[in-house]
Amino acid sequence: MKAYLNKQATKAADRRHPWVFSGGVGRLEGSPEPGDVVRVMDETGRFLAWGHYSASRIALRLLDFDESARVDEAWWQVGIEAAIHRRRGFGLLLERSACRLVFGEADGLPGLVADWYSGYITLMAQTPGVDRIKDQIARFLAERTGALGVWERSDQENRALEGLGSAGGLLYGARPPEDLVIEENGLIFQVDLVGGQKTGFFLDQRENRAQVARYASGVQALDVFSYTGAFAVHLLKAGAASVLRVESSARAAALGDRNLELNSLDASVDDKIVADAFQVLRKLRDQGRTFDLVVLDPPKLAPTRSQAERAARAYKDINLLAMKLLRPGGTLATFSCSAGIDADLFQKIVFGAGLDARRDVLVLARMTQSPDHPVRLSFPESWYLKGLIAQVV
Ligand code: SAH
Repeated sequence: MKAYLNKQATKAADRRHPWVFSGGVGRLEGSPEPGDVVRVMDETGRFLAWGHYSASRIALRLLDFDESARVDEAWWQVGIEAAIHRRRGFGLLLERSACRLVFGEADGLPGLVADWYSGYITLMAQTPGVDRIKDQIARFLAERTGALGVWERSDQENRALEGLGSAGGLLYGARPPEDLVIEENGLIFQVDLVGGQKTGFFLDQRENRAQVARYASGVQALDVFSYTGAFAVHLLKAGAASVLRVESSARAAALGDRNLELNSLDASVDDKIVADAFQVLRKLRDQGRTFDLVVLDPPKLAPTRSQAERAARAYKDINLLAMKLLRPGGTLATFSCSAGIDADLFQKIVFGAGLDARRDVLVLARMTQSPDHPVRLSFPESWYLKGLIAQVV
């Protein structure tokens, strides 16, 4: 089976970008089924890559740019082995740790995401090609890491785009226990892999949590979009005087209470509001509340570039409100995990918020995703997490 790309898509493939949009495919030969491996060529028949075909917006995921490669089970095993080896090298794959084991395209394994949580693995199959072989992949992941079980947590939204039904459940071994705990930066957290949100834990913020904690000593902190309290626990352990968590999911917030308890933190220094953060920030402003440190870690507000403009307004809105809540000289730790908002635009948004708040913003540190979520330069979309620690004067 073959796919011939038009000129523009050929250029991208020559630059080793792993995606070919459906508009970039000039002609398909041999009527491939979603999930089939096809030979990808330019208009003249020059070999470009081997790719997974999908009847979706992203028609091809380019897997290997070497003509002599054979994309079979052994090919996936070699790639997975390399991805695991990388995490071991970073010292991230330990008995009680949590880390991303495989980060899809960035690890050269398009469509496959797998996370390690203290001896259990969650797997996301994002494409028909990976969906077909997920059982073999699950077994292999378990064999190579010693995991007791592999649980599927395929992202429903992505799967619908790929024409795949919803999927979740045990792929291999034992079901992850409900009270599973992981260790991060010497702190412990309970993760709910089976019943929790999309992700058990936001692993991409590991290094940033430690970095933000450096500014926590003695402060009154506000942790907005707190999920299961990972920032809050870090801040309190680093000596914060108090923390107020804001989170819309009652279930996540309750697990946050548990995480404070697991780390022997005194509940009296912690407070939480389970509600919409946009409204809570306004209310806190109207009440004249102030804080020394605000963490803003919103969900993806711009999943694609086309939604970037609306999302930019939402980012500006919360950053402006956060600055108004900060005492002079207070610290703002602000993030965006939208691939559609690049670092430059994000900085401009924060600058704009500062202008409107009549505050000067001094950037103390720039943050990105942790190293188990590497950025592949041929796939700029893999750089999605941007953060700033700033002093607002
Ligand atoms: N800071 C967290 C991760 C945040 S993920 C950590 O370090 O683990 C984003 C969180 O925002 C999710 O928990 C989600 O439930 C929550 N959320 C989404 N929309 C929200 C809203 N409008 N108001 C408050 N919380 C919201």
